[in-house]
Amino acid sequence: MSILVVGTVAFDHVKTPFDERANVLAGAATYFAIAASFFTQVSIVGIVGNDFTAEHERIFDVRGIDLSGLERRKDGKSFRWTGEYGYDFNTRTTLDTQLNVFADFQPRISPAQQEIPYLFLGNAHPSLQRDVRQQSRARLTAMDTMDFWIQGTPNELRETLRCVDLLIINDEEARQLARDPNIIRAAKAIMALGPKRLIVKRGEYGATLFGEDSFFAIPGFPQENVVDPTGAGDTFAGGVMGYLAATGSRLDEESLRKAMIYGSVMASFTIEAFGTERLLALTREEINERYRQFKTMTYFDGIEHSF
Ligand code: AMP
Repeated sequence: MSILVVGTVAFDHVKTPFDERANVLAGAATYFAIAASFFTQVSIVGIVGNDFTAEHERIFDVRGIDLSGLERRKDGKSFRWTGEYGYDFNTRTTLDTQLNVFADFQPRISPAQQEIPYLFLGNAHPSLQRDVRQQSRARLTAMDTMDFWIQGTPNELRETLRCVDLLIINDEEARQLARDPNIIRAAKAIMALGPKRLIVKRGEYGATLFGEDSFFAIPGFPQENVVDPTGAGDTFAGGVMGYLAATGSRLDEESLRKAMIYGSVMASFTIEAFGTERLLALTREEINERYRQFKTMTYFDGIEHSF
């Protein structure tokens, strides 16, 4: 089953202590769509400016991603983001965010896109996310958000949270959103706002799944080769939703747990290079091999006899 994603298609300027890249094709919808395209058909709803060229378009074509919902504007630039990492790749500083053509984007999704069963509201203005949610007849909706929107548009964000099934969000942002430094209490408070399930992303430390009465946690894939963590969160979400859509799953515990492993596997590849470079070179066999490694890494048996 296919997925509709709304979010930024952007150009990033990324600085790490070791290297720097400007004008990298990125954005929440880009990372999400490329990751999910390894599992199922993906359509993007978004907007780009006159800096988006035929060469950029080809990247999506290669992955079979439908861009019929990508509005192209001649009179401005695409969303642009500049961020910097310190030696701790788990935290980053946003140096600049330019909404550009994204500022007054009013998405209209086609009748065919309204019927797409899985919807991901990627990082974007929460009112825009809700607008797309209201136009869609999806049977499962997940969303992401970030500090920029939690601080800048808190009321709109609460409205949007009311109409989603699953929230996938960073650890720090979950605590910020709930205004509670304890993640267990924060998770409960967030689920009381609307989402039935919550996945908290914890960078290199993995991810945690919360339900009303359930808890599941996975480590991050032990990765020695981290070049640029940008996009890991969106790639993770692409792997999660890609697996759920490919298997026609809803929010059952077993499917969500496997989906989280696929999310982590996909994210572990993204961080090996700047932008989408590593994802674009990925093979199905590499994905499956890392999934198997994850299984070996986290397996432990029950207690058979007492000692
Ligand atoms: P992440 O997966 O969290 O590392 O997401 C990084 C991507 O999000 C970058 O490629 C940025 O272009 C994009 N981004 C940064 N800030 C925002 C924002 N406020 N809204 C939407 N997308 C953003």
